[in-house]
Amino acid sequence: MGQVRRKRRRPELESRKKRIDCSFCKEDKRVDYKDVTLLRKYVSERGKIRSSRVTRLCGVCQRQIATAVKNAREMALLPYISQRKS
Ligand SMILES: [Zn+2]
Repeated sequence: MGQVRRKRRRPELESRKKRIDCSFCKEDKRVDYKDVTLLRKYVSERGKIRSSRVTRLCGVCQRQIATAVKNAREMALLPYISQRKS
C-alpha cells in the first residue's frame, strides 16, 4: 500500500475533446424532408441512414436527418433499403 504514484494522463487524451463541426449548426440550416439531394448525402447506396460518425453531425441534427429520411421514404422520395442482398 505504499505506492500512491499517480500516472499522468496523456495530454492527447485531454485535448481530444468532442468537437463536432456540424455543418447544419454552422450554417443554421433546417432539415427538410423534401430536399432529396441533401438527404441523399446522408444515406448510403443501400438506402440506409449513415451514422453520425460518418456524417459528422451533432446529435440533434443527426436525429433531424434521420426523421427527415424516414419522412422522405414515406413520401416515396427515397427508397427503403434497396432490392436484394449482395
Ligand atoms: Zn448540428
